[in-house]
Amino acid sequence: MPKKYIVCTKCKRILNKKELIHRENRDVCPFCGNDRFTTSFSNVFLIIKPEESNVAKTIQKKESGLFALTIEI
Ligand SMILES: [Zn+2]
Repeated sequence: MPKKYIVCTKCKRILNKKELIHRENRDVCPFCGNDRFTTSFSNVFLIIKPEESNVAKTIQKKESGLFALTIEI
């Protein structure tokens, strides 16, 4: 994956840097408001229908989206 993608360390959602919200001189996750991110991630998975996804149940995600199962902070 190109470097323009980063992962929120809290909700583990994979984000394009353009998606971040700029607030008080820092960038925050538009989904959970966290301001810490990492570019070291692996085990990317896409949740389309969380109610039918075993992975979503395992990591307790109830929303759809692109996530990284493994991150390095
Ligand atoms: Zn987040």
